[in-house]
Amino acid sequence: PGADDVRAAPTPTGHLAHNYHPLPVRLVSGEGAWVRDATGTAYLDLLAGYSALNFGHRHPALVAAAHAQLDRLTLTSRAFDHDLLDVFADRLAGLLAPLLPADLVLPMNTGAEAVETAVKAARKWGYDVKGVPDGRATIVVASGNFHGRTTTIVSFSSDDDARRGFGPYTPGFRVVPYGDADALAAAVDEATVAVLLEPVQGEAGVIVPPAGYLAAARAVCDRARALLVLDEIQSGLGRTGTTLACELAGVRPDLVTLGKALGGGIVPVSAVVGRGDVLGVLTPGTHGSTFGGNPLACAVGLAVIDLLETGEPQAMARELGAHLHARLAAMVDDGLLLGTRGVGLWAGVDVDPAWGTGRDLSEALLARRVLVKDTHGSTVRIAPPLTISRGDLDQGLDALGDALR
Ligand code: PLP
Repeated sequence: PGADDVRAAPTPTGHLAHNYHPLPVRLVSGEGAWVRDATGTAYLDLLAGYSALNFGHRHPALVAAAHAQLDRLTLTSRAFDHDLLDVFADRLAGLLAPLLPADLVLPMNTGAEAVETAVKAARKWGYDVKGVPDGRATIVVASGNFHGRTTTIVSFSSDDDARRGFGPYTPGFRVVPYGDADALAAAVDEATVAVLLEPVQGEAGVIVPPAGYLAAARAVCDRARALLVLDEIQSGLGRTGTTLACELAGVRPDLVTLGKALGGGIVPVSAVVGRGDVLGVLTPGTHGSTFGGNPLACAVGLAVIDLLETGEPQAMARELGAHLHARLAAMVDDGLLLGTRGVGLWAGVDVDPAWGTGRDLSEALLARRVLVKDTHGSTVRIAPPLTISRGDLDQGLDALGDALR
């Protein structure tokens, strides 16, 4: 993108509410793994919109699909059908059919809405199908979780910043330590309708659970006749080198929530996908969304599915991910980082407090024209677009090494 695209930005007058603490950079254009500010300065994006930009900024096929749909039909509401809605559901179910019982697809917009939808479906399934006494359904979740920001979802957050001040909290959730299969088994009983987990915890700092954890969760759910609901909103759609992260563990969930990359970084698109007897409990009038499954969202979502069906983004994540983790491990060996972990093209690195905070490192990288963001004090997440070139990734990692030195 040329600097000519850039519009002069008026000076802010302080009306924007502060729910984020962004880095001091104002972006005006982007392409692939690169973005620019109003002066034309280019920055390498190693955050990729918290994995909403898995295919990079303005991927040509995704932009073309959006443009074509803008000229045809953008919104009907769910009061009327449109020509892409069934197609989108069928194609998404087809993509995921090898990985879970993808009988039904319910499109929503944001990730939090998909999680809320899964929570509602699991509860109603618990009452209507499993036979849990009314009002007694419990859902077991993990500490360190991040599933969104609604009042119900923050009710079961273990992050004090996310939760404090937003009560009264929604009851019906039990929080157990992430990665501890025994604690999970102990928390599940006959009133448990679902276990809700991230297969890899993104916001917590790219925490990969111990081997066997998801399989143990699957077995616990099977024994208790509870649903295994995996939140793949950040981990899914290529990031881990597979279409879904649960593939790596060989575990088939009953429901998955998807979001972020499903909208190609263009529009918010989320979905719940899974068992027909579960999502089937949501009958007309019991749930809805004005924008969920709108024609523009479906057009972009279909183009995203086209990309994923080639297997190329997943292969890129595997290949570049191996390189990323090798280079980060070398930085740990050199004493530049305290630790690193991750999977696919996705890493959390721990900054030595003697060096500074995660925020300090993010600012040091910003000064070197590389964009990352800290999470939980001392961790920085690295999640570039899956379309990044190896040369650009190396440039970003060189900058990381330079900043730490
Ligand atoms: N679930 C997970 C695993 C996430 O990482 C996120 C966002 O970071 C969400 C849910 C919430 O998505 P949204 O911000 O679109 O509501």
